[in-house]
Amino acid sequence: MNIRFWGTRGSIASPGPDTVVFGGNTTCVEITTNSGRTAIIDAGTGIRNLGDSLLKRPDIKLIHLFMTHIHWDHLVGLPFFGPLFHPDFHVVLNGCRKCFEGLKRIFSRDYIDGSWPVRFQDLRARIDPPGEPPMGIITLDEVLVEPHRLQHPQGGLGFRFTEGNKKFVFLTDNELSEEGWDGSCFGDFVNFCQDADVLVHDCQYLPEESVSRKGWGHSDTITVAKLAVETGAKRLILFHHDPWRTDEGVELVISRCREELDRDNSKITVEAAREGSLITL
Ligand SMILES: [Zn+2]
Ligand SMILES: [Zn+2]
Repeated sequence: MNIRFWGTRGSIASPGPDTVVFGGNTTCVEITTNSGRTAIIDAGTGIRNLGDSLLKRPDIKLIHLFMTHIHWDHLVGLPFFGPLFHPDFHVVLNGCRKCFEGLKRIFSRDYIDGSWPVRFQDLRARIDPPGEPPMGIITLDEVLVEPHRLQHPQGGLGFRFTEGNKKFVFLTDNELSEEGWDGSCFGDFVNFCQDADVLVHDCQYLPEESVSRKGWGHSDTITVAKLAVETGAKRLILFHHDPWRTDEGVELVISRCREELDRDNSKITVEAAREGSLITL
């Protein structure tokens, strides 16, 4: 499968000269299976550019959209996703429990005074709500997509994509902690990420920053490194960069995580997600 990052930033889009290397758009990841299926994780601001790209690829009309949760930074790009305005596109929605309501609400004129001039019924694409149960396991040809509950305010889901013997795990907006919360514990995440070829995990904070941000639903370099070591993952990619983090600051996050991994003599590679970069598994 191919994995491309269209948005890597957390919380709010952060364009500017200080974020050109790792990107300023919020969460959006495209997965293309070996059989040619297109899946997208989240509809942050990065989905606007992805939509423009899809409109230039005439062979793709079916899109599987997996929503981790419906906080604004993961949803706000949706009204600018070009395929929604074309009747020949078919979007199959899946993921977190309230993803369909969240998607509709962003177009609602009844929500506060309305967020956008476009109404949900103006969208021309066919949009299928999630099946029942909405958080179930999905099969896309040979790819198994399995969800895992996040430790995040209002909840959410992470996903594991398995194709043949290759595993890609995506967990953003997830606060790892020894004690666990929201019904899951650290060991649950270790099991879910076991032997991942690529593990993408939220690493918004340095440890000293996370102290005053407990309960906000994000992780730091120490806990993410610990997860990577315990899972035997091969490649760790840090994600959901803090909006105030410059490119230089993201490099510091990588090096602090590397220090933790070196303490455990881990040979895992660690990097930070870069907008526009492609991973082939
Ligand atoms: Zn977020
Ligand atoms: Zn969130």
